[in-house]
Amino acid sequence: MVKDQQPVALVTGSTSGIGEAVVRRLAADGMRVVVHSGRSRERGERIAAEVGGSYVQADLADEAEARALVETVLARHGGRLDVLVNNAGISRPIPHADLAAATPEVWRELLEVNLIAPWVLCTAALPALREAPGGGAIVNITSHAGVRPKGSSIPYAAGKAALNHVTRLLAAALGPAVRVNAIAPGLVDTPMTQDWADAHELWNERSPMRRPAQPEDVADLVASVIGSTYLTGEVIVLDGGLNLR
Ligand code: NAD
Repeated sequence: MVKDQQPVALVTGSTSGIGEAVVRRLAADGMRVVVHSGRSRERGERIAAEVGGSYVQADLADEAEARALVETVLARHGGRLDVLVNNAGISRPIPHADLAAATPEVWRELLEVNLIAPWVLCTAALPALREAPGGGAIVNITSHAGVRPKGSSIPYAAGKAALNHVTRLLAAALGPAVRVNAIAPGLVDTPMTQDWADAHELWNERSPMRRPAQPEDVADLVASVIGSTYLTGEVIVLDGGLNLR
């Protein structure tokens, strides 16, 4: 395909873990990908070079930087954006019964990155997504913690639950021009979870698939969701079947 005709995909938080696997997969599928991170510029530029994409740095806790991220992507690609994957996210492990530790500051910090930034990016990207030749697609990476009463903290789980519902609300509001879906992973083997020994044990022993997901498992589903042109408004739990236990 002529490069100018290839779909453009922005994947937030794509210098590690799930996001990195997603940019590598979408690039292999023929998309022009934009790699993004808040900090690791050098790594981002390297991944972008490896996959034939480009890199943008932006702190998503800052609304102006989030808006500027979309503007930069559009400026680089002649106003085109077909796919937005809201993957960037943060977690702060806090026992659920320790209410005092989940301070309003923690709530604000987590909601800013995990909920408000995806909203800002959706609104900034919407005019371009509406014009995408094959229809626009938004994929929000949420969590099984946004579906069931689990997760690294209550503010994390509540933010992911809110993004799941935003997914459904946006799907209803934006169809047929733009499809909106969420993928809600269980444990995924990434830098975020490398010290979570109990969770690894749980998935290895109790989940029907007997292992946590690898980032590539999530990337496979992101690619399928983007390619399923009748699918919208779904929150797909990807937890190796642990929810059956
Ligand atoms: P990760 O820590 O490897 O990646 C998180 C990414 O988010 C990083 O690239 C980081 O740069 C980016 N990010 C964080 N704060 C940012 C900010 N203020 N501005 C810009 N970028 C920022 O973690 P991961 O496990 O790959 O997580 C990716 C997504 O998947 C997150 O939304 C996470 O909540 C979700 N998730 C992960 C798991 C898991 O088990 N790993 C499970 C369910 C959901």
